[in-house]
Amino acid sequence: MPAIATTNPATGETVKTFAAATDAQVDAAITLAAARFADYRRTDFAQRARWMHATADLLEAEADAVAALMTLEMGKTLASAKAEALKCVKGFRFYADHAEELLADEPADPAAVNASKAFARWQPIGIVLAVMPWNFPLWQAVRFAAPALMAGNVGLLKHASNVPQTALYLADVLSRGGFPEGCFQTLLIGSGAVERILRDPRVAAATLTGSEPAGRSVAAIAGDEVKHTVLELGGSDPFIVMPSADLAGAVRTAVTARVQNNGQSCIAAKRFIVHTDVYDQFVSEFTALMSALRVGDPTDPNTDVGPLATEQGRDEVAEQVDVAVAAGATIRCGGKRIERPGWYYPPTVITDITRDMALFTEEVFGPVASVYRAADIDEAIEIANASPFGLGSNAWTRDQAEISRFADEIEAGQVFINGMTVSYPELPFGGIKRSGYGRELSGHGMREFCNLKTVWVA
Ligand code: NAP
Repeated sequence: MPAIATTNPATGETVKTFAAATDAQVDAAITLAAARFADYRRTDFAQRARWMHATADLLEAEADAVAALMTLEMGKTLASAKAEALKCVKGFRFYADHAEELLADEPADPAAVNASKAFARWQPIGIVLAVMPWNFPLWQAVRFAAPALMAGNVGLLKHASNVPQTALYLADVLSRGGFPEGCFQTLLIGSGAVERILRDPRVAAATLTGSEPAGRSVAAIAGDEVKHTVLELGGSDPFIVMPSADLAGAVRTAVTARVQNNGQSCIAAKRFIVHTDVYDQFVSEFTALMSALRVGDPTDPNTDVGPLATEQGRDEVAEQVDVAVAAGATIRCGGKRIERPGWYYPPTVITDITRDMALFTEEVFGPVASVYRAADIDEAIEIANASPFGLGSNAWTRDQAEISRFADEIEAGQVFINGMTVSYPELPFGGIKRSGYGRELSGHGMREFCNLKTVWVA
């Protein structure tokens, strides 16, 4: 189990360590949350919205400081950390402004159900446990916290062990925004402490964003306890390029889509599937741009790609590439770890990957792009779907018939045409297959942790 600590991925130096909460401290937190839920659930939307807007305003004012914290803890560039903080501000404001309409009663035709009045009402369910990953350390937790709190639930956050200070910041800023004590608590615990919490009868449900093994473990325990879960797991998103596409735009976006967040995004484009007519040009231009990226200190404004967040993560990426190369894949650029303090790995382009290679089906959580050649749209869709994952997807074409086929036939939770997959509070976010189930964001994400109660009046 990793220690709970802030370790700077740019240097490998451990800056601050934290003692894990004891079982007694965890129990006290659950007791507090349960007591708080009893009255918090009765607050109205307007009151919750005032607290959420106040939280958003504080975060906006503190965005530079919290961005520096995220960069310190997991190595994303300062510019992307600041953008993440501001995205969280928007997320808070979206739910503050829209929760009431998104959770409005749903009336039924009274005559059809023999009633004078009948409707379905969305109600909070209580304590929700959130197990979160480090890659977007604030946004992942906010996209749980904002809808959960606006729906009247209370939250317990078990964040990844390498981002404790960002985790503590979130609970603190919500508290300063006005949310009463116990509405949202960060528990500094290792993954081994999750089962006890999930089995506590006072905890109603769990959401987990992270790897497949973590999701499987949490969902199995929740299943045993008959508790609802949402799982946002890994992805290996396809990025399809057809001959009619704006090729220059596709190449530029492909680079961003692969290396955003130093290559550690669940919805990063990871498999580039290119029509044979434009394959050579795409590979050549894509490789040129990938090789030109500046890798280095994430606090330097000139840096495009910082270090990977953990040593283990960097070693896994290097191993995946080495295994593929040993099996006959071709490196077009990158492909060798950078020997310097910190956990750097260069932007890498790989071609000639065959279906018997592990790389064909694995997720690579680093700045490594796999490029495949497709003879036609049928083969492009077939390769896209030949993955155990189904999170995001991207397709580039100007042909309307092809757009329809991609929208209908790609097996994924989302398809972005002539763009890259991005999460918005307004749009549902989630996956199918091994990428998990349930949805976050939009009204759908908020309703995941509500009881839809049917009310029928004679
Ligand atoms: P991870 O190792 O699964 O960790 C995620 C969280 O789960 C951490 O809080 C971790 O705690 C906890 N955890 C790990 N094993 C657990 C277990 N057996 N029981 C209970 N909790 C457990 O994942 P990661 O390496 O941080 O994140 C990378 C993965 O997350 C990638 O696969 C990525 O695609 C996926 N991801 C998905 C989305 C999405 O929206 N679909 C978004 C971001 C990331 P500790 O840190 O204490 O181990």
